[in-house]
Amino acid sequence: MAEEKKIIRKVIKATGEMNRIMADYFYELNEASKTGEKKIAWCTSVGPAELLRAMGFLVYFPENHAAMLGATRMSTDFIPEANAIGYSPDICSYLTSDVGAYLKGMTPLSRAYKGIEAVPKPDVLVFNTNQCRDVQDWFAWYADEFKVPLLGIHTHRGVGDVGGSHVKSIANQMENMVAPLEKITGKKFELDELKRVVKLSRECSDLWKEVLDTASHVPSPLTFYDGTIHMGPAVVLRGTQTAVDYYKLLLAELKERVANNEAAVEDERFRIYWEGMPVWGRLSTHSKMFSALKTNVLASTYCNSWIFSAFDPEDPFNSMARAYTELFIVRADKSKEQYIKNMLSFFKVDGIIYHDAKTCPNNSNCRYGMPQRLEKETGVPSLTINGDLNDLRLLSDEQTKTNVEAFVEKLEER
Ligand code: SF4
Repeated sequence: MAEEKKIIRKVIKATGEMNRIMADYFYELNEASKTGEKKIAWCTSVGPAELLRAMGFLVYFPENHAAMLGATRMSTDFIPEANAIGYSPDICSYLTSDVGAYLKGMTPLSRAYKGIEAVPKPDVLVFNTNQCRDVQDWFAWYADEFKVPLLGIHTHRGVGDVGGSHVKSIANQMENMVAPLEKITGKKFELDELKRVVKLSRECSDLWKEVLDTASHVPSPLTFYDGTIHMGPAVVLRGTQTAVDYYKLLLAELKERVANNEAAVEDERFRIYWEGMPVWGRLSTHSKMFSALKTNVLASTYCNSWIFSAFDPEDPFNSMARAYTELFIVRADKSKEQYIKNMLSFFKVDGIIYHDAKTCPNNSNCRYGMPQRLEKETGVPSLTINGDLNDLRLLSDEQTKTNVEAFVEKLEER
């Protein structure tokens, strides 16, 4: 067994700049919430953010807030509050921790940003069921609470090839949102503004992809854990010049590491692909655990989910419809398996870890034989760990550590 010694994990210098732009983002929302000077839309993480931004809304993402609740390990305490009003402990722990925190009047934003006391109040809530049905119920609860309109896109699930009829139906639903959104903002929709925002979103997405792709270098300059932190602007600020500028900065730093053969995890021996949700409350623990084994978890389906290569500013509605339907989570198992196979070879992966997140079946792809099928086809071994994204009662740190160590030992033997 590899001995556990302190292995150096390189710190990303651009983190300071990212923290600054994320702070600006939350302070702007807080100001708008207090003064009412700008309208605020709440949007699901892979919802039509470009349309909302182009119509003048500031866009807030409850999933980002829920991930903060997880990362700060506040989430587990709030889940029972949502359970008490009828939301099962078995459903999405983003939903239950976020609603629970609201019911308790708590937010990690207050800890991170002095002067922010609460999440920004929405003028409208907009969901897309491309990821799951939970987001619809989550947003419906807040729509009722704040007495504001709820708009939604209902996406096909289990899609094989994304065809013209899929794209048309989603594009139509997006276009149908324009009139009710105009009513809320009191402004006319401008197609040119949407094109401008989609162009910026595409640039952000291309840069984010380039950032993640640097991990294909041996040794990798990046870890999955870096990715979960630095994806912030791609989630909440896509469609802005700020996000584009940030990823140029981050990419330059990572390219320099590649040029100098600088490893994110010193003496990288094994390269792992992470399939499923992060365990937000254990990012640092997991990062240290893998580093101590000179193993880099360097790529993931999760961080790749904010790559929208189909965005085309010349055809904004259809291309948004395609991009938001081509996502991994929307697709049938065959398409998902092909995708993972491509990732394994592109990132030169030695093994896959599937996270079976108890409260997110939508992002747990290990329940219907996929690990076994992929291992048979590719020869790349896998490990499934049981846990959860936000409910820390659903994981065993000891069990995870034992299983990961045994898995790395198996990789050594190969
Ligand atoms: S995809 Fe999973 S984690 Fe995300 S909102 Fe849906 S159930 Fe929750």
